[in-house]
Amino acid sequence: MYDYLIIGAGISGTLIARELSRFEARIIVVDKENDVGNHATLANSAIVHSGHDPVPGTLKAKLAVQGNRLYHVLQKELDIPLRKTGAFLLVQHQEEIPGLERLHRRALANGVETPALLDAQTAKAREPMIQEGTLAALDLPSTMVTYPWEVAIAAMENAMKNGASLRLNYEVKAITKMEDGFLLESTEGSRLRSKVVINAAGTFADRIAAMVERDVPYRITPRRGEYYVLDKAVDGFVKRVLYPLPGKNGKGVLVVPQVHGNILLGPTSDYQDDKENVANHAADIEKIRRDADKLAKDIPYDKTIRTFAGVRASSTYEDFYIEPSKEVPGFYHVAGIDSPGLTAAPAIAKYVADTLLDIGKHYPRKSDFDPFRTKTRAFRSLSDEEQRLKIAENPRYARIVCKCERVTAAEVVEAIKGPLGNDTLKGLKKRIRAGSGLCQGGYCESEVLSLISEVTGKRPDEIDYYRKNTPILKQETKVGR
Ligand SMILES: Cc1cc2nc3c(=O)[nH]c(=O)nc-3n(C[C@H](O)[C@H](O)[C@H](O)COP(=O)(O)OP(=O)(O)OC[C@H]3O[C@@H](n4cnc5c(N)ncnc54)[C@H](O)[C@@H]3O)c2cc1C
Repeated sequence: MYDYLIIGAGISGTLIARELSRFEARIIVVDKENDVGNHATLANSAIVHSGHDPVPGTLKAKLAVQGNRLYHVLQKELDIPLRKTGAFLLVQHQEEIPGLERLHRRALANGVETPALLDAQTAKAREPMIQEGTLAALDLPSTMVTYPWEVAIAAMENAMKNGASLRLNYEVKAITKMEDGFLLESTEGSRLRSKVVINAAGTFADRIAAMVERDVPYRITPRRGEYYVLDKAVDGFVKRVLYPLPGKNGKGVLVVPQVHGNILLGPTSDYQDDKENVANHAADIEKIRRDADKLAKDIPYDKTIRTFAGVRASSTYEDFYIEPSKEVPGFYHVAGIDSPGLTAAPAIAKYVADTLLDIGKHYPRKSDFDPFRTKTRAFRSLSDEEQRLKIAENPRYARIVCKCERVTAAEVVEAIKGPLGNDTLKGLKKRIRAGSGLCQGGYCESEVLSLISEVTGKRPDEIDYYRKNTPILKQETKVGR
């Protein structure tokens, strides 16, 4: 019997697990996927927003501003990438000025650090590639970007170091309320028991809630966002995140520098019935170009390396719905976590542990809780001398597998083996960036497949690209292995 079972190993679930693991309680996270951070946490803009946008007084506003500050703590403790870009919110038309001023007042009301209105000349001097017609800007210096997959992986690794468990490939199919807690059953018939259940299942949160409640107080309305990714060769094209004035469907199409130097253009905003369809659409991709061109001039579209899409867990409740069940004691909702959910996640985790669950009342703090994660440094970031020593230790460090990102065979093997190892192509991309560069895996994928096969003993046609049953090789040909 667990004390706390969290459904969903996205950034919400993994950071909640880490927060709860500060206490002497038995904690488990379950996820239907074969890796942590495979849904919204995988495909988003990666912005740690300042908190300028949510309506004052909402949970979104409060937790976004707190979350933004907590990222500095996470950076120290979990050694996650964080780039302090700042942001400009730009307007091009006189009639948009009142909206810009309203947002400035909103940012101040939300407690955002030093938001300021700038005239076009000042904005242009600081960010030369902004579009010629820009009239004014809202400067949001506390805006940052991070690497969301790594935050989720790091949070889960640290929670596990502090005693929490993780069950992947566990799709919750049914939840039964028992006298002393809950009985969960997976699609494969595996059962787990827990005193408390926390529903952090993203776009599936309403479906999970309906397993327990008759009247679920919200409905998830999935909202797809599509992107262009520009190669890291464009690093420095803009220093800051560029936002337009937000509209009724959210923050609009943005220009977003990333921690590794790439630039994202997007996202679009389209409601869809499907909770996980991440297809790209030609018309949406065209719209991104039209909108991005309003923010910056001469965008180097010729450096596009891919497109992708993610699905937001927007809900009919509109604010984050972080509440105890009104019907079933012991069941808690962490639902409707759309943007700024990535930003708010560290604050959501604290809010869940301290306010929602009041965990300190039920379990003592661990005297030996260790908040730190020791991150393996990428081989490419080491000095010549450090690289020589590594190669002497293990000659596979001398074998570059991914030429774009300079990832070695030794690093591929280490990422497969753990501590939170993974043996899918995408899982390795998330951990060590093999396949993230200009060629998008064209050169390295076959070699990475061979290494996975060697370490796991799986045949290459049994190795998944991403989710369960997504092999990229179908069968052996006459050439053989
Ligand atoms: C296009 C887009 C852009 C965004 N940009 C930003 C941004 O720049 N800044 C920002 O702050 N926020 C942004 N967000 C929002 C942010 O990405 C999300 O709020 C955050 O990732 C949500 O994390 P989560 O853990 O709640 O959900 P998810 O990451 O979706 O995790 C939910 C998990 O639940 C699991 N699950 C579902 N059903 C079951 C089941 N039956 N059994 C077991 N497991 C199950 C899923 O497999 C999944 O892993 C964006 C989102 C999108 C889609």
